[in-house]
Amino acid sequence: MEVVTTLVDMIAARDRAIRPLGLVPTMGYLHDGHLSLVKRARLENRTLVVSIFVNPAQFGPNEDLDSYPRDIDRDLRLLKKHDVDLVFACDVSEMYPPGYQTYVDLELLTGKLDGRYRPSHFQGVATIVTKLFTIIRPDKSYFGQKDGQQAVIIKRLNRDLNLGAEIVVSPTVREADGLAMSSRNVYLTKAERKAAPIIYKALCIGRSIWEQGIRDAKFLEREMASVIAGEPLAKLEYVSIVDINTLEELENVDRLAMVCVAVKFGKARLIDNIVLGEEYLE
Ligand code: AMP
Repeated sequence: MEVVTTLVDMIAARDRAIRPLGLVPTMGYLHDGHLSLVKRARLENRTLVVSIFVNPAQFGPNEDLDSYPRDIDRDLRLLKKHDVDLVFACDVSEMYPPGYQTYVDLELLTGKLDGRYRPSHFQGVATIVTKLFTIIRPDKSYFGQKDGQQAVIIKRLNRDLNLGAEIVVSPTVREADGLAMSSRNVYLTKAERKAAPIIYKALCIGRSIWEQGIRDAKFLEREMASVIAGEPLAKLEYVSIVDINTLEELENVDRLAMVCVAVKFGKARLIDNIVLGEEYLE
């Protein structure tokens, strides 16, 4: 496994890579959710690149950029075990050198859902993914359904800017009690960790009501919100049922929909989602 830390070396490596080349972009501190993407990408590509970059552009001024968990040595050990060919891990100053001023945004998708609570977050995501795709030129790139809005934005961005990658979205990997795996779960205290599966529980209750034939989105949202309200450590930011492509809020769940939720537990802000109508995406 080669570890590349400069843009020049990454571009040279990409030019000599045997194709198809698969890319798994991450912010590191890897868990089984990340590794599910790595495993899938390994099977589907001749060359497998994993990027590790804690992207400052996607953190707001009062967010957790400085405290975001990092353990590059452990990450490299895990990636080596998973037969990764190339790890791209560069410094912030390499990615955003002095004078940097170009950002990518989407007219509608970046302002919805999480975008209402994290105003420049998805601009940061769209910018780094555009840069990674330009530098690495993947044939296929792998993202988790866990970050559902991010997946929708990246598919749109890839199409709109003709970036030419195939975007693969892979199911959310969960702990045994249903909590979606996330690098941010380390922020949870013992009591918060015990309470956090309420998020997935609420989503499952929403799904089971939907399965009974109820299509009133606001009713479903209220039911899920009340489940989360029953957990004193949970502070609900939103639960919202949206069209899976446009992320428009639905009144009536009459098409493929995503139920998105964001909840704060102390220092940790956790997101999760399920898809109504297409089981495998969950
Ligand atoms: P991050 O390091 O949090 O930026 O995540 C890197 C990639 O891993 C993103 O495409 C995430 O959606 C994906 N990912 C994170 N957590 C999970 C999970 N629990 N299951 C599946 N994919 C995940």
